Amino acid sequence: MRKKIIAGNWKMHKTNPEAIRLAEQLRKKLEKNPPQKSKVIICPPFTALSVVSEVIKYSSLELGAQNIFWEEEGAYTGEISAKMIKSAGARWVIIGHSERRKYFKEDENTINKKIRLALQNKLKVIFCVGETLEEREQNLTKDIVGNQVEWGLKGITPAELKNIVIAYEPVWAIGTGKNATPEQAEEVHAFIRDILDALIEDNVGETVTILYGGSVKPENAEGLLAQPDIDGALVGGACLKADSFYKIIQAGEKVF
Ligand code: PEP
Repeated sequence: MRKKIIAGNWKMHKTNPEAIRLAEQLRKKLEKNPPQKSKVIICPPFTALSVVSEVIKYSSLELGAQNIFWEEEGAYTGEISAKMIKSAGARWVIIGHSERRKYFKEDENTINKKIRLALQNKLKVIFCVGETLEEREQNLTKDIVGNQVEWGLKGITPAELKNIVIAYEPVWAIGTGKNATPEQAEEVHAFIRDILDALIEDNVGETVTILYGGSVKPENAEGLLAQPDIDGALVGGACLKADSFYKIIQAGEKVF
């Protein structure tokens, strides 16, 4: 049985007092009604990792960061290392998010280096892939996603893959309010499993947790999460309020 995960990417939102409040609200909701079927991960900005880590210390919530640098340490002004996020309480890290690819020009090579470094530091990875609207319209979705998976996971062994979750996030669906249909998402998720079989090891694809991300909301979560190859969600906008994130967690509980 694959692990089911609902993860929240807070992006560049929440000062420390706001982050503490949101984490507390969520913790209280989950204490009252603990999810039985899924793991819940929250990924606040770097600055709030330590304080949120304190808030969720005795809860089932897990903590992730949104990025790391690809070197262990050194003269890289402004960057944050794997060890730093670990020491602040993170056990997960999002790598290859489309906003990092777009605004910070991260390519498959840098993403691959980050994934390897995260794994060397015993962090678990949420590795994001997804096509732009233009690419989808040109019928290139599978080429693009296949390429991202292939190069992002270059050199990754089947054992290491156990610590990687893939998030399929069509770029045109992120923050736009326009989600992929359950069928569109399901098709790409199934394709990613085939690619993993071909690239890493026969039958390994069916063991990997693959999340969908892109305008997941309480209203559309159930339909998406009910798909056989969708193992959870990476949520942006709707995770910034405890209420809506909690409703998405509940939708998972209903259909997983
Ligand atoms: C994301 O940032 O990973 C994301 C899916 O954002 P949103 O849910 O806002 O589309």
